[in-house]
Amino acid sequence: MSSLPILIAGGGPVGAIAALALARQGVPVQVFEAEDRVDDAPRAATTHAATLEMLVELGLIDEVVRRGLIAPKFSIWDRASGDVIAAFDFGLLKNDTRYPFVVQCEQHKLNKMTIERLRRFAHATYEFASRVRAIRQFDDRIEFEIDTPAGLRRVAGAYAIGADGGRSTVRKALDITFEGYTHPERFLVLTTPFDFAATYNGCLRNYFSDPDEWCALFKVAGDDGTGLWRVVFPTRADETEAAAFDDAAVQDRLQRFFPKRGAYPVVHRNLYRVHQRVAASFRKGRVFLAGDAAHVNNPLGGLGLNFGIHDALELAHLIGRVMRGEDVPDSLDFYDRFRRPLNIEYVQQQTIANKKRLEEKDPAVRAATNAALRATAADPAAHRAYLLRASLLESVRKRAGAVM
Ligand SMILES: Cc1cc2nc3c(=O)[nH]c(=O)nc-3n(C[C@H](O)[C@H](O)[C@H](O)COP(=O)(O)OP(=O)(O)OC[C@H]3O[C@@H](n4cnc5c(N)ncnc54)[C@H](O)[C@@H]3O)c2cc1C
Repeated sequence: MSSLPILIAGGGPVGAIAALALARQGVPVQVFEAEDRVDDAPRAATTHAATLEMLVELGLIDEVVRRGLIAPKFSIWDRASGDVIAAFDFGLLKNDTRYPFVVQCEQHKLNKMTIERLRRFAHATYEFASRVRAIRQFDDRIEFEIDTPAGLRRVAGAYAIGADGGRSTVRKALDITFEGYTHPERFLVLTTPFDFAATYNGCLRNYFSDPDEWCALFKVAGDDGTGLWRVVFPTRADETEAAAFDDAAVQDRLQRFFPKRGAYPVVHRNLYRVHQRVAASFRKGRVFLAGDAAHVNNPLGGLGLNFGIHDALELAHLIGRVMRGEDVPDSLDFYDRFRRPLNIEYVQQQTIANKKRLEEKDPAVRAATNAALRATAADPAAHRAYLLRASLLESVRKRAGAVM
């Protein structure tokens, strides 16, 4: 095995999981995280069956289930009539997976438990407050230039992973274009302890379709396990952050959608710019892109981080084999060859379709789409096929069946 470590830029959930998967194989790894602590902004929570199966391999599954909420069902509602258009039940996948449900576990919890596991390996390091500024590639190694509180530092590695998020310094340094587009509206996430469960038949994941203003409503456990609901709305294209966060506007938005007596307690307000973009290549020389550095998408369907975790495990597997001399370095090309088209087919296509379905303005198209959804939910074979795709199990199987 090469004595040089694998260098990872970005210690978010994808970078940390890639590091843990490498460390478990005995591969030395160093993670550099720009911030001085784990970001606990409300982002991913929905963890799908395909990912839960991978978390078993990493020894993380029990803690993820314990600190999250099991949600077997999700519903798509018609806002105007208040009727359920279609209700889907992952329970139908009971013969396909040990985990016929999603677990709603916030990404900062997953990130922290991964770092804690990683620190148990003597050949792994994870450093906060260490921003990767520049990278240099050589025939036999890669170098990172890192900005740390103690000053600039240079480190050398055998290979590197850019897991440094959507604005990836690594992707830009490699001059890889981020192909796709940015949605004109932003997504506003309001977090409230108000309990919506009784109103929505105990369903923890709900989507409301409406031509003027759609909404997504999810429950997460919260840090103390008492439960929080995240309500996601599109903003108007020209809406400023101040206007979106204004107390009266926040209450008005919630009350218009979910009228109730008395104000909503709101514990967080967050605004996200949303993109559909895929890097033109996931590899250049000794450097690979993973997670949001390689692909970004809207969060409807909860797929972005799930796919990023799959990137991390695939890459760790390929690099591990090469580092042990079990495979030739050229085999690392499979990473870009398989994962890029898989992201387009399963993540970009599904999230774009999910958003379009919720916001469709043409009444005839809406009626046809809703009829198709109803028919899918009503037919057990079509229902199962839909869920195999939505849970990313189909993408993992397709990858497993691909000839290398
Ligand atoms: C509202 C919302 C809801 C979502 N819900 C879901 C969901 O339910 N399910 C799902 O699968 N996905 C979801 N996502 C997507 C998910 O949040 C992202 O896909 C996920 O954060 C990607 O993880 P990552 O580790 O690749 O990147 P990030 O989480 O962005 O982590 C990148 C890390 O790199 C660090 N960094 C950046 N630059 C440097 C540098 N130069 N040097 C060193 N470190 C650097 C950053 O500080 C950060 O810690 C959601 C996103 C949003 C916005």
